[in-house]
Amino acid sequence: MEVRTEEFLEKHVVPFASQWESEQLMPREIFKIAGTYGLTGLIVPTGSGGMGLGVVELSDVLKEIAAVDMACAFSLIVHNNLARSIAVNGSDQLKEMFLPGMLSGERIGGFLLTEPQGGSDAAAITTTATLKGDHYIVTGEKAWVSNGTRADVLSVYAQTEQGMLALIIPANLPGVCRGDKYSLLGGHALGTTGFIFDKVKVPIENVLITQGNGLRAALEGIDLARITVAAMCCGMLEASLHYAIDFAGSRKFKGESVTDLQGNQWRVADIATELAAASALTREAAIAHEGPDSSSVLAAKAKKFATTVALRRIADCMQLMGASGLQQEHPLARHLACAKMAEYLDGTTEIQNVVISRSLF
Ligand SMILES: Cc1cc2nc3c(=O)[nH]c(=O)nc-3n(C[C@H](O)[C@H](O)[C@H](O)COP(=O)(O)OP(=O)(O)OC[C@H]3O[C@@H](n4cnc5c(N)ncnc54)[C@H](O)[C@@H]3O)c2cc1C
Repeated sequence: MEVRTEEFLEKHVVPFASQWESEQLMPREIFKIAGTYGLTGLIVPTGSGGMGLGVVELSDVLKEIAAVDMACAFSLIVHNNLARSIAVNGSDQLKEMFLPGMLSGERIGGFLLTEPQGGSDAAAITTTATLKGDHYIVTGEKAWVSNGTRADVLSVYAQTEQGMLALIIPANLPGVCRGDKYSLLGGHALGTTGFIFDKVKVPIENVLITQGNGLRAALEGIDLARITVAAMCCGMLEASLHYAIDFAGSRKFKGESVTDLQGNQWRVADIATELAAASALTREAAIAHEGPDSSSVLAAKAKKFATTVALRRIADCMQLMGASGLQQEHPLARHLACAKMAEYLDGTTEIQNVVISRSLF
């Protein structure tokens, strides 16, 4: 099987992205469809049935999907990340139980680290997992779970006396309570919710990351996640720029369009320049991540720069379109909401500043 992003988008995302936003729902069937296009095991090693993509290729795929719908792209990468983690860190039993269903898209994954009292300090989570014989008893509350509305396979980070671990918790276990979907500025295809775990009995075989290694494991994937969010922002901005130029260029008033005005042409030149810079930084971070050296600072810089540029410059693209840019029939309002969302995903802009400045002092 090969990854066929373009066909997936043309047939299954382009015609529906606007509807998913207005109905605040992306149907779970999209994961099964994505599976037939190789999009559910993108970074699962080929030996485990996945596509084994490197970071550069993965970033390109996500950029392409985000150019149509970033919420769909982020939803898929959350699922893909968990499938990879199970393939790489899971016991044979865990792999057998969960990997085939996740690769086919029948079962959907979610990553549950953040809690309602704050997400920036991952070490401070308070959900507990207490060992009782051959089970853990899990109690606590999680917030901001992407795919939360539809996830069946939950990777839940919790504290034990020996430090943090991660458990795979099927969402249908007694004591797992799924919250209502969040109503947000946009990005509703992501299906974000909270979860409550009330003394959930989880078999010891469901340990994904052992006691004491949970925090390290959660943070290990963060650089890759930041690079992919940066790539998605570049995809949205590039799509917005082309859309706005086409739209504004086709509107004529007294034989002229607003794109004939030098002020607008220069604004477009600024947007294109910043897009090129964000894309180059993101590519550099992706290449570095594939190499032997740590790329945490580059990943933080790419994420900070690409999200900031996307947020400001997608708004500028809308401005070029006049008030029409605000209308939901055009994709820019969706992109703008997702660019704002991107400022929080996988660490806020302020947390990227912490990483970058720490490397300088
Ligand atoms: C759409 C969406 C989907 C998400 N999906 C997931 C998911 O699937 N799984 C998951 O676990 N999490 C998810 N998150 C949570 C995300 O990781 C957190 O929102 C993020 O880590 C920030 O946490 P917070 O929102 O609680 O802000 P807080 O940590 O409460 O921070 C509040 C403000 O203080 C600033 N701040 C905090 N600490 C510092 C510091 N040390 N220095 C300077 N400034 C600081 C922050 O930058 C922010 O501006 C998602 C978030 C969003 C918006």
